[in-house]
Amino acid sequence: MNNKQPIDVEFDREHIWHPYTSMIDPLPVYPAKRTYQNKIELESGEVLIDGMASWWSAVHGYGHPEIIAAIKAQADTMSHVMFGGLTHQPAVELCKLLVELTPAPLNRVFLADGGSVSVEVSIKMAIQYWLSKGKKNKTKIMTAKKGYHGDTFAAMSVCDPVNSMHAMYQGFLPEQVFVDAPSSHFYDTQNTRELEILESAFAAHHDHIAAFIIEPIVQNAGGMNFYHPDYLKALRELCDKYEVLLILDEIATGFGRTGKMFACEHAGIAPDIMCVGKALTGGNMTLAATLTTKEVALGISQGEAKVLMHGPTFMGNPLACAAAVASLKIVKRPETMANIQRVNTALKALTCCASLDHVKDVRVLGAIGVVELDQVVDVAKIQAFFIKQGVWIRPFGKLIYIMPPYTTPDEDITALVDAIYSAIASGHY
Ligand code: PMP
Repeated sequence: MNNKQPIDVEFDREHIWHPYTSMIDPLPVYPAKRTYQNKIELESGEVLIDGMASWWSAVHGYGHPEIIAAIKAQADTMSHVMFGGLTHQPAVELCKLLVELTPAPLNRVFLADGGSVSVEVSIKMAIQYWLSKGKKNKTKIMTAKKGYHGDTFAAMSVCDPVNSMHAMYQGFLPEQVFVDAPSSHFYDTQNTRELEILESAFAAHHDHIAAFIIEPIVQNAGGMNFYHPDYLKALRELCDKYEVLLILDEIATGFGRTGKMFACEHAGIAPDIMCVGKALTGGNMTLAATLTTKEVALGISQGEAKVLMHGPTFMGNPLACAAAVASLKIVKRPETMANIQRVNTALKALTCCASLDHVKDVRVLGAIGVVELDQVVDVAKIQAFFIKQGVWIRPFGKLIYIMPPYTTPDEDITALVDAIYSAIASGHY
């Protein structure tokens, strides 16, 4: 790509959809020229400290030499080949690493092209499993409010019913069973009444429920809700008791973000099905995976269909798998978890915002920092301010949150924290 050619922002505005944007009145977009380490360089010359890790994905920063070398080497031999009837080293090596890193019972892997697709696959797995067992009524999914699992239709059907697109697609979206969002904070004690109510939902609905899906510990897009590990423990027990599979969506939380390799480790439990994505390739290529147990995988294969009914064109793309192998090798190193702990400590400085007007809550977990306001943020206004401060932070709703690359130096975390403090203190939101 010729980097010298200016980016045609007018064409972009007129013709290109960005995430969740209007074609009439889009929010401004800033032309990005280059990314490196924890920096985003704009075409205008500004260099921004990245607080978002490109939506949880660029955990080792941008352009990590080992990942780039792996992609280049793979591109020289085989960028892509169909996965139907063929296999290759990057896919096999990646799946070995995934089986090794994820909780023990998960040892069967489906490679998907992105997070939402991996959620679709997880739901297919659950429904097909119970079909194989002759339980044809188990076709619904139970989930907690405030969840977010992606933008494809089955994934949307299990997103929070209010803050999502349920109303718009009513009649087309499958109707699922919702329980209240987990309400006990990660750092408080678990409200036992909440667990009793949860059990009554299982008791009432389990006959037609194939699986319970939830983001473990952090419900992210639904409000950055950090909930108590005992809720997950209870879910595991209830799923076993009522013959419901447990799907954990670790797409955002996986690979260290919450301070454990997988967020479910905070509760010491393992799901029957797990979705991973985002950080899987270190933010370099699109790739996700759905893992399950031998029991579920064999169950599916013993059923009428005999096969799992999914197989995208770019399944197991070798370039993406090579990037993921290189990224997971870095994830496994002790220095990665040490960096996450270091970032966690630095992020605690965010508590300086707690005393500011309109700040409702400040919370930090792993390498995630959140400042919740009591009013909705004007994204265009605050982002323009942040860019002047030399940082890239993209709030949503009432939340100003950061989940920077794990490799972010302490002084850059300080710059991110200072920018958030200044934006709130000076009313630039
Ligand atoms: N699940 C969770 C928890 C997510 O945060 C996301 C992405 N924001 C998805 C699923 C969907 O992933 P993707 O955008 O890659 O389709």
